[in-house]
Amino acid sequence: MTRLILLGPPGAGKGTQAQVLAEVLGIPHISTGEMLRNAVAAKTPVGEKALGYISKGELVPDELLLDLVRDRLSQPDAHKGWIMDGFPRTVKQAAFLDELLQELNETCECINLEVPDEVVVERMLGRGRPDDTEEAIRTRLKVYHSETTPLIDFYRERSSLKSVNGDRSLEEVTESLKQLVAS
Ligand code: AMP
Repeated sequence: MTRLILLGPPGAGKGTQAQVLAEVLGIPHISTGEMLRNAVAAKTPVGEKALGYISKGELVPDELLLDLVRDRLSQPDAHKGWIMDGFPRTVKQAAFLDELLQELNETCECINLEVPDEVVVERMLGRGRPDDTEEAIRTRLKVYHSETTPLIDFYRERSSLKSVNGDRSLEEVTESLKQLVAS
């Protein structure tokens, strides 16, 4: 049973890798960024509230996210495992997920995709997502360093953290991830 969080900076390739791995393992890929973008496109109340934060590269407030994650994890397809990217992004979200998993009697592992800042900026600029403007990218990186990097210690202390060098080709990174997941 694989329940895996992919951590790493924006633009590290978490979404792409999570998608590939999820397909290989036959489990859902859960991306809060994608869920939020879908909500924006569908103009749901959550989407309307989230749009301003997303386009600035800021974090969407927890109250818009936590129910979304709770609902997604309780859907039947998530009972056979999942790969999550983009959540948790703060220690508070990680504590929420911890509690949720305890309620469900489940555990998860975490893999940190390591990619230097210069590389992720280049990658994001080439990606063409509406929130990939230079200013939003700068904000996302700042938020990543202040809010999300503490999660590396959070998961290391729970001895559920592994790391992969994400500054390689897509295929090489996938190969390393597959080996770690299988081990
Ligand atoms: P991503 O696709 O993971 O890069 O997320 C795109 C944007 O969605 C982020 O820049 C945030 O504005 C928002 N977002 C996604 N996941 C979260 C989260 N866990 N907490 C807060 N905001 C999030």
